[in-house]
Amino acid sequence: MSNGPRYRFAPSPTGFFHVGGARTALYNWALTLREGGVFVLRIEDTDESRNQPQWTQGIIDALAWLGIEKGHPQFEGPYFQSDNATAHVEAAMRLYAEGRAYFCDLTPDQVQERAKTSGKQGYDGFSRDRGLEPGPGRVLRFRVPEGETIVHDLVRGEVRFDNATIEDFVLLRGNGSPMFLLANVVDDQIMRITHVVRAEEHLPNTPKQQMLWEALGSSAPTWAHVPVLVNEQRKKLSKRRDKVAVEQYREEGILPASMVNYLMTLGWAPHGDTEIVPWQRIVDEFRLEDVNHSPAFFDIQKLLAFNGEYIRKMTVQEFISACEPVLAPGVAPWPADKFDAEKFRAMAELVQTRVQVLADVPSMVDFLFLDTPQVDEAAWTKAVKDSWARDVLVEMAAACESCNEWTAVHLKTALEAITESRGLKLGKTQAPIRVAVTGRGVGPPLFESLEVLGRDATLRRLHNAVNRLG
Ligand code: GLU
Repeated sequence: MSNGPRYRFAPSPTGFFHVGGARTALYNWALTLREGGVFVLRIEDTDESRNQPQWTQGIIDALAWLGIEKGHPQFEGPYFQSDNATAHVEAAMRLYAEGRAYFCDLTPDQVQERAKTSGKQGYDGFSRDRGLEPGPGRVLRFRVPEGETIVHDLVRGEVRFDNATIEDFVLLRGNGSPMFLLANVVDDQIMRITHVVRAEEHLPNTPKQQMLWEALGSSAPTWAHVPVLVNEQRKKLSKRRDKVAVEQYREEGILPASMVNYLMTLGWAPHGDTEIVPWQRIVDEFRLEDVNHSPAFFDIQKLLAFNGEYIRKMTVQEFISACEPVLAPGVAPWPADKFDAEKFRAMAELVQTRVQVLADVPSMVDFLFLDTPQVDEAAWTKAVKDSWARDVLVEMAAACESCNEWTAVHLKTALEAITESRGLKLGKTQAPIRVAVTGRGVGPPLFESLEVLGRDATLRRLHNAVNRLG
């Protein structure tokens, strides 16, 4: 068994896997790998009203997609918090037996009522010395000692909490079930966790948990609270407002390597002048001490730019393989029998340099596999607004008909001749041809597109466009 540090990632399976959770998991994973430790995955599934088995599987799959995988010698788990319920209650009752916790029979309404007059925030310690026995409806509360709790946090430094501001918090509910704060600590103790690296929103829980660690007879782990992720408006990322699901980015064709790299840079940067670095360098360089305190902007545009860079780093063959899911029957917008792998291969390199996500690929090549591509009407209107557009289409159709070598070079020469004879620029005359043939205003280079599409389809579409213009 390794004697190295033991990190953990402890998600609650209440929805799609949040990018913030993914970043926390990756921080833990990078440290585990560099320090020769263990990464424990613990599913905190004790909130029965919100947890669903499919969310657990979603987390496991998304972690594997990011490279954090069962089967790796430094990966342990998944463990399930619900399996330890007995240990949670036992730990609480030990604290009760030692006088570190006590039962209280006030209802939440009564607690609130008293708070109005006691001048204390929250529970005022009413039952501290009443010596109540356990009983139905009685909650078990931790007896917060006087003094100060100092949390040493690798990201935030030393954070001091005056214990007078911390109420005697609940360990067991009135029905006897353990609260999150307790279950989380007891699990970390059972799993011999040495480092708790988690989201900043848990910092206010930390003094309470540190007291629990000590009351239960162990010294607290090393803490690190990593900054929250915010959106463009500097608001905390939320699943209602923002696109936060890792699964969604995966489906849209963000590559795992770029997702990993991008998430690691939220609050941290590799040494040197580029943020796009291989995973091994991240593992070598990442330190919690270098993580920023301030909220990190989850910038989707930047993620897309990272992804574009990663796409361009692939070999063409890798790119073609990576595109398979977005070109698959039922996913791609053309009838399955119309797809021609050779045509796609011929265009692949030109597409690869122009997309940011794999999901952009089908719209770049659909003109090859659809009998009649749908026309982007705004692009059409713009492309044919000049009086010369129709003539250029007519002349290009004639040139295509008589062109004896159907290659991009010859097609370009043909359009150049037409363009020059009219005193125009190629940048302009390509537009009506492009929309006529591909249906779109933008796409891969025009002449290569025509070459791959072939003479018949090109001619048919040019004639249709001319007819449309009357
Ligand atoms: N289950 C908690 C959450 O998902 C994590 C608690 C922790 O990391 O200590 O927010």
